Parts: sequence; structure tokens; C-alpha cells
Amino acid sequence: MKSRRETNTRFRLILTLGLAVVLPALTLIYVNFQHVKSIQRDKKVEALIHRDFQYLLSNSAKKMSRKVYELTEEAKATFPSDDDSDDEKRRKFDLLLEKNPWIGHAFLYDSKQGVLIQQRCANEKELASLNKMYNGWFGLEGPFLVDQLNKKPKPIMWLSGESDASDDSSPYTTTAIFTFPQLGKDRTVLGGVRFDPVYLRQKFFPEILEESTSLKLNDDTGQNETQSFYELTSQGLKEHEEQRLAMLVYPMDALNRPLAMSAGWNGGKPEVSLNLDNAFRGLVLGIKFQGTTAQAIGNRWVFQSFLILGILSVLMIGGLVLTYRSVNKQVALARLKSDFVSNVSHELRTPLALIRLYAETLELGRITKEEKKNEYYSIIRKESERLTALINNILDFSRIEAGRKEYDFRETDIAELVRNTLDSYRFQIEQQGFALEEQIDTSIPKMKVDREAIARALVNLVNNALKYSDSEKFLGVKLYRDNAVLKLEVSDRGIGIDRNEQARIFEKFYRTCDPLVHNTKGSGLGLSLVRHITRAHGGQVEVESTPGRGSKFTLSLPLVQADIL
Ligand code: ADP
Repeated sequence: MKSRRETNTRFRLILTLGLAVVLPALTLIYVNFQHVKSIQRDKKVEALIHRDFQYLLSNSAKKMSRKVYELTEEAKATFPSDDDSDDEKRRKFDLLLEKNPWIGHAFLYDSKQGVLIQQRCANEKELASLNKMYNGWFGLEGPFLVDQLNKKPKPIMWLSGESDASDDSSPYTTTAIFTFPQLGKDRTVLGGVRFDPVYLRQKFFPEILEESTSLKLNDDTGQNETQSFYELTSQGLKEHEEQRLAMLVYPMDALNRPLAMSAGWNGGKPEVSLNLDNAFRGLVLGIKFQGTTAQAIGNRWVFQSFLILGILSVLMIGGLVLTYRSVNKQVALARLKSDFVSNVSHELRTPLALIRLYAETLELGRITKEEKKNEYYSIIRKESERLTALINNILDFSRIEAGRKEYDFRETDIAELVRNTLDSYRFQIEQQGFALEEQIDTSIPKMKVDREAIARALVNLVNNALKYSDSEKFLGVKLYRDNAVLKLEVSDRGIGIDRNEQARIFEKFYRTCDPLVHNTKGSGLGLSLVRHITRAHGGQVEVESTPGRGSKFTLSLPLVQADIL
């Protein structure tokens, strides 16, 4: 029966566990679950990846712009002056084109002399149309343009679009038109360089795209973004930072005719795109992952988060069950220990009282009949034997608990050991009215055992058979060989053991709930010792039992005991 105190202790422990561990853990799991759900619902992972993409695109656009401005400024620095003679101008342009392979053509306009154009590859048709275009345009708007440009921090404007060289398959190009602010306000002088479309397509864009895609997303998206992302997801998302990127540049209305793309672009639409302006007006910069999409990454992240939360919940429930069982076990053990103390003190006191009583009676010399005297002597002997057995069990048990139990294995004739042990109990067995059936195979070869320990195991089993039999008093002891295993069976036709309790009777202090057991003295240590002894010999002990019909305990010891020698 479980006492009230025991129930209280268990309740207190479970309450503490619940309040200190389960409740916070459950709350945490629930909050995280809701968090992941909201991320899934609002597609936050995708949004964050797209934000990183935007950031990378605008950085790449800035790089492009910075580079074309730099190139133009460099070219402008070695530009001919409008005061130079035409030959001088041509010579300087030649030098400029030679040094800067990116220039398709350069021109210098001056309101007095008109435009002078120098092309890398002479194309009369294009030259004629350029001449017409610049002279016409600057003749009309030149002064206004100069005025407007000189107001800008960088006096450069861009003319971008398809070039007139229609033989080019992707004729997109851009032209920088600039002024020379150091010249007086009364003069309309404009210079310009056109980027070679082939240079743009084959070198300029590919280089910037490769440079941008070789970065990881977090390299370029800045610490702040990453931190806010971590705050949001609480577990962080690394995967998208590891993915390789692919980018392309295409004319706004012609995704199918891209100007340039990075390695790894395998067609399809970009996930995020940015319309370029200024030098590259009319072009679009696009980005996506190689081989995956932001949505796939988002879905995977959500799935993984739910999985982790699921595993955590299962672990927590598992831990809870284990803790609950362990608490129960500890409480039960505490109860068994306290039962043990009261049982043992009772067991010690009873034989001592009997021994004392009979010894005193004999001492007084009042008993004259020899027969009576012998009976008293026998009681004293029996009780002291019981006492010795109990004390031996307790001593052995405490040695085992302290890890100090040592076995002394010696070559032994096991049949003889069993017979001798039974002999010393024969009188007691028969006196209690038990029918003893012995079947001892004497042909068993000698084997190494701890004699005292094996005898003690047998005595414990025999004692139990005597203690836990009521109506039918039968004790069977059988020793035989089963291939390479030695079997020692002790059977009775006593009260038997319930199936549920059969495994537990080998635990220390455990006693079954049968009323006979309750009324019989015992410490609950005997069978745990038997098990320890058999295991120390490399064997095992088993029980077969039917309540009301009896029990059979079988020790199996290997005949070849390599591991214990
Ligand atoms: P003890 O006999 O001192 O209680 P043991 O460890 O020897 O301790 O046995 C543990 C329990 O197993 C006993 O209390 C009893 O309930 C049960 N038991 C052991 N042997 C038998 C048996 N032969 N028949 C029925 N029950 C038994």
C-alpha cells in the first residue's frame, strides 16, 4: 500500500517538475511554434531573401555606375582641347582610342567648327548619321545643355540605347556627354565618348556580374540586415547565404535577349530585378539562386523548424515520462528501504530472543527429558543458522552496494557442493514436512566457482521455497547439464508469483504483495543476491511460476567460464 506521505512526496516532485521544467518548456515550444507559423503565413523568409537580393542588385548597379564614371573621367582628362588644330585633335583622339579599348567613338563639338568624331572602326554610314545628329542637336540645344551640365556636381550626361551599327546583334550602348567647366561661359564646347557595345557585352557586364555573384549574400548585405534577420527567425537562416547566385543584364522589354549573364544562369525569370538608370537606362539587372528558389528555401526552413519543434516536444515528453518513472522508482525504493529496516530488525530480534529463551531455560536445568533438551538445542541451532544466513545476506548485499564484493573462484565439484549444502538443510526441510526430491547429475565436470557464493544462492532459493509454500510442501532440486550450460533448478508447489511481479522480485528489497509473504519474515535481498552471484559467474537466473501452483527458479551457468577466470 502506498502511504499518504509517499503520495505527497510524489505529488510535490511532479508539481515542482511541472512548474520548473514542463511549463516553461511548453510555453517556449508554443511561442516558437506560433512564431514559425507567422513566418510561414507572411512568407517572411522569402521577403528577407528578396530584400537581400535587392540590396545586392543596387550594390551592383552602383558598382557599374561608379565604373563608367571613372572610365569617362579618365578619358576626359586626355581629351583634345577645342583650341587644337584638327590634326592635333585627331592625333589625340587616336591616342585616346588606343589607350582605352572600351571607347567606340569619341567626339568633340564646338559651336564654331561643328563636331569632330573619331571612330574605332570606321563606319561611314554611322559616321554620317552621328555627324548629323550631334550637329543638329548641339546646334539647337548646345548652350542650354552646357548650362545644365555645368550645374551638376559631375558635368556628365548619358545617352543610352541601341547604337546605329545595326549589324551588331545586341547593339545596346551608352554615350557619356560632358562639358569642360573650366572654359568660359560664352563657348559651347561638348565632348563625348561612346562605350563600345561589344566591350560592354563581353567584358564590362560579365566582369561585374561575376564579381557580384561570387559574393555570398551576407558578404554584401551588411551586418544590420543579418542581425535583424536573426532577431526575426530566432534560429537564424544560414542556408540562403550558402546558395550560389546567378545574375543577368537584359534590355527592359527583351528578357529573352540578355546582354550578359553570370555563370550558372540557366534561363528562366529572375526572382528579383532592378531597372537601371543613368548610364544604363533601359536595362534591367536580374538575380536568382542557382538551382533553387527563395520559396523552396522558405518552405524548407519552415519544415525544418517544425521538425525541430516536433522533436523537442517528443524529447520533452519522453524526458517527462522517464523522470516520472524514475521518481516513482525512487519513491518505491525509499519505501522498500524503510520496509527493509523494519523487517530486518524484526528478523534479527526474533531468532535472538528465541536463542536466549531456550538457552536460559536449558541453563536453569529444569529440563530433564533428553528428548526435550534435543529439541531445544535444535531450535537454538536452527535460529542461529537463520541469523547467520540473514547476516551473511546483509553483509554480502552491503559489499555489493559498495562495489567491494569479490568472488573466489576455485575448481569445484559442483554436484558435491549442491549435495553438501542440501545435507546441512535436510533435517530442517524434512522437519517442516517437505518432500525433498533431489536429481543430481554426478557426471558434471569440475568447474571454477565461488563455493560459498553458489551455496548461498542455493540456500536462498531453498529457504524461499520453504517460506513461500503453504498447503503442498514439496521441494525439488535438480542439477544437470544442458550442452555447455550447467542448470540448477529449485522448484516448489507453493504460492507462486504473479506474472507482473516475476521480473521485479530480483530487485533489491522487493517483496510481492501476497499475504503469506507479508506475514513471512524476509529482507527482500535474497533473490537480488542470487542474481548478482549468477551474473558474477557469467550466468543468469530465471523464474517460471504460476500463482497457486508453485515456482521454479533456474540458475544457468556456462561450463566454460572464460570471462570470469
Ligand atoms: P525475501 O524472501 O527475504 O522477501 P527474496 O529476495 O528472497 O526476499 O525474495 C523476494 C520476493 O520474491 C519474496 O518476498 C517473495 O514475494 C517472492 N518469492 C521469492 N521466492 C519465492 C517462491 N519460491 N515462491 C513465491 N514467491 C517467492
